[in-house]
Amino acid sequence: MTDCLFCRIARKEIPTEVVAETLHCLAFRDISPQAPTHVLVIPKEHHDSMAAVSDPVVLGRVVALAAQVAADLNVAEAGYRVVLNTGADGGQTVLHLHAHLLAGRSMHWPPG
Ligand code: AMP
Ligand code: ZN
Repeated sequence: MTDCLFCRIARKEIPTEVVAETLHCLAFRDISPQAPTHVLVIPKEHHDSMAAVSDPVVLGRVVALAAQVAADLNVAEAGYRVVLNTGADGGQTVLHLHAHLLAGRSMHWPPG
């Protein structure tokens, strides 16, 4: 059992606003939203980052749940962005694989 922050969130030891849950994944609101809709999608199983995942099914489940949440929150039609910050240069601060689902405003490109 790991005391990683998102492992603890997956075990419901730390309260979050859960928006969707499957057998393998959890989706919850980011505590510091960067867009009107900002949801994090994590696998319940610990992986440090997408660089550490060997089974593509894990990534598929995360991205598929992000798409499902976007549809359920009615942002799919207007559009959204899914981001997987990976490693130091990628801006990753929590070392448990997660996808950001950002929506509700027009996104900028290139990202900062
Ligand atoms: P990253 O910088 O890509 O690793 O993203 C980590 C994200 O986790 C940030 O957007 C934080 O705002 C978010 N975060 C940190 N702690 C919590 C928490 N307790 N509940 C929800 N989101 C969190
Ligand atoms: Zn973890």
